[in-house]
Amino acid sequence: PHNRVVNFGAGPAPLPLSVLEEAQGALLNFNNSGIGIAEISHRSPEFLAFRARTDARIRTQLAVPRTHHILFTQSGASAQFAAAVTNLLARHRLLHPDAAPADTPLDYVVTGTWSARAAAEARRLTAPGAHARVHIAADARTHSPAGAFDGLPPRTAYAFSAAPALVYYCENETVEGVQFSSAPASPGAFPFDALPPGAALVGDYSSSFMSRAIPRLGEHALVYACAQKNVGPAGVTVLLVREDCLVDVEAAARAGALPVATLDAPKTHADARSLYNTPSVFALYVTGLVLAHMERMGGVPYYEALSRRKALKVYAAVREGQERGVCRRAGREGSESWMNVVFTAPGEGAEQRFLDGAKARGMAGIKGHRFVGGIRVSLYNAVTEEHVDKLVEYMKWFIAEET
Ligand code: PMP
Repeated sequence: PHNRVVNFGAGPAPLPLSVLEEAQGALLNFNNSGIGIAEISHRSPEFLAFRARTDARIRTQLAVPRTHHILFTQSGASAQFAAAVTNLLARHRLLHPDAAPADTPLDYVVTGTWSARAAAEARRLTAPGAHARVHIAADARTHSPAGAFDGLPPRTAYAFSAAPALVYYCENETVEGVQFSSAPASPGAFPFDALPPGAALVGDYSSSFMSRAIPRLGEHALVYACAQKNVGPAGVTVLLVREDCLVDVEAAARAGALPVATLDAPKTHADARSLYNTPSVFALYVTGLVLAHMERMGGVPYYEALSRRKALKVYAAVREGQERGVCRRAGREGSESWMNVVFTAPGEGAEQRFLDGAKARGMAGIKGHRFVGGIRVSLYNAVTEEHVDKLVEYMKWFIAEET
């Protein structure tokens, strides 16, 4: 309906049709208020009630423990690259008020474009005089025969500092299609057990949020995710912040910590229940509709099983293409992302033929990221198994055609 194509885009990504239809109506009149959702006050009782249900939908479906606040910001996941650093350095300062200013380590696990960007932002913020320094606890490129972000570091490769202000990782690298495994015993699982005691763990879950359970969620200081992959339109970022990481940044500044911008402090948003300033009302509303839809479908367990099935189907087709010399998977075994499948078609002009053929069949959004090229198929929650079957059928046809 509506002349829509199947969209495998990496974000913004497709939204469930029923959600878009409901949002259409609400643009004219939200909840019988007589006011459209893009026009109504963020403090109106109608919107506040809707918002409260949205929080609950995340808490229930993801089993967010009571120790963690659910907050919404509108500055994108990228803003957390800096906010996590300044807040957790402030927290470190308050926890160690008498320590002589020394260079506090910030530990980064670098597995792809996004964690590399986060580490680069931390480096900017720790210019000389900031009394902090970036320590790379593991860099996947060091362990790759190609020197590329094409897999995860081996479990023994992590070298954490003794008392870092934070330990940072990106659970799913959207550009390269490299994801930590959610099976704790797997060699590709994040090494939670090797963390220094008391480390404030920060996880970027932007491109896998609500597609499966978050391992050891309660042990994280901060988990964050932009909405525009699995749960809504761009303009909303979800933060799950542990209570003891809601830092009083004024007190920290008095104790000598770097200043933290008001909007960068999770405490600002927690104290104001995410209404310190005007939120993206419309984007939050659509996010709430998606979460309600997810609940009706069976919640995170449903999407976890579905995501596994969808990914297995696409990887099987890539493997078939690989065996026949038509495709090549970008990542090494054991680092497969369930959300972003990245591969190349090495034949002369083959990638363009693949993209053109997909377009002619009503499939879009599969051109690889401009940094790495190739093909990237994103399998976020609103991509159905029927959509994947259609793609796989086309991939098989293409492989036969090119062999
Ligand atoms: N982290 C990851 C893993 C991402 O995929 C993205 C966006 N593609 C970001 C961070 C940045 O998100 P935003 O564009 O909302 O700042």
